[in-house]
Amino acid sequence: MSEIAFPNADDFTHNAVISRMSQLGHEQILFCQDSDCGLKAIIAIHDTTLGPALGGTRMWMYSNEREALNDVLRLSRGMTYKNSISGLDLGGGKAVIIGDSKSMKSEALFRRFGRFVNSLSGKYITAEDVGISPEDMVHVSKETDHVVGLPGKSGDPSPVTAYGVYVGMKACAKIHFGNDSLFGKRVMVQGVGHVGEYLVKYLREEGAIVSISDIQEDTLKRVSSAYNAKIVNLEDVYDLEMDVYAPCALGATLNDDTLSRLKCPIIAGAANNQLKDEGKHGDLIMKKGIIYAPDYAINAGGVINCFSEVKGLSSEWARDKAEKIYDTILNIIKKSKSENIPSYKIAGQLAEERIATMKKKNV
Ligand code: NAD
Repeated sequence: MSEIAFPNADDFTHNAVISRMSQLGHEQILFCQDSDCGLKAIIAIHDTTLGPALGGTRMWMYSNEREALNDVLRLSRGMTYKNSISGLDLGGGKAVIIGDSKSMKSEALFRRFGRFVNSLSGKYITAEDVGISPEDMVHVSKETDHVVGLPGKSGDPSPVTAYGVYVGMKACAKIHFGNDSLFGKRVMVQGVGHVGEYLVKYLREEGAIVSISDIQEDTLKRVSSAYNAKIVNLEDVYDLEMDVYAPCALGATLNDDTLSRLKCPIIAGAANNQLKDEGKHGDLIMKKGIIYAPDYAINAGGVINCFSEVKGLSSEWARDKAEKIYDTILNIIKKSKSENIPSYKIAGQLAEERIATMKKKNV
């Protein structure tokens, strides 16, 4: 997925917004506000060639509306690529609600937001994202059917996400070691939250030697003793002798500093936006001879889980589909090696090709 810089990112005129939409290929933006309940939101629909645009709603205290707009444009475009590379019949979209998720939530706000989602008649399907809980989505669902991730439905996506990361990591191992066994391989899992803990479980079940780090001491100790994983200090992660670095906490951990230190042959983890500067650091990883599983391809288990809810499919279907992440990653890395093109670029090309093929069929 190529990065597009906005020369006039501060320009917020009507013309500038439309021109940014056309640069990035967005179909539609819905600006939503209701001063009675304090709602200020933006819904961005990037591309619906493959199906309705699915992507979560983020609630965040953006410092201004431009920042919110830039974020929703970037995130919705990312969803198009993620849904496409995962072989899902879904387009890409995203919503942001501008506000403090600790103090500004109310039933009225989420129901009002739900009515805006409903006004799009299913062109956009929403779900939880940063700052939003399943309970908030229950309020949204009182006003629209176009919402997934509700309590009692497809449930927590983290186990499926972790499973996809696990099989994607095995595909990387197959390329590097000649077989996909992770038995005895040294894996560093950075962040043992929802996804990271399940990943540790799958890895330990296969006999990998797992090290972990986290900023939360209690989580760290609990996961360490439950799965016999070695605790590593936060600052020592990037200097560790390891076979696989699995970032499962924050984004942008692949940057100038960390790439000058990492010695592992494989990077495969769940975190979103791992490359601080996609072009620069994606290229650098290849130059260093490291195999990199593009984040939005390897962490697609969550959106696969959402899709199963949209279509009324079983949890077994979601797991089987997540298992195919193995083939997706294998294909990306093989192509990357044979064509000598960084894996993030190959993933972008494959996602774009699927959409272009479908566009031709639609004509
Ligand atoms: P989470 O918040 O449950 O877990 C993140 C963990 O990382 C927490 O335990 C946190 O304490 C820890 N952490 C934060 N800063 C850290 C640091 N500097 N070093 C080490 N640990 C640190 O989140 P999650 O749901 O497990 O998601 C993890 C990552 O995967 C995120 O980037 C998320 O966007 C991405 N992701 C998650 C899903 C999903 O299904 N949950 C799907 C796709 C992508």
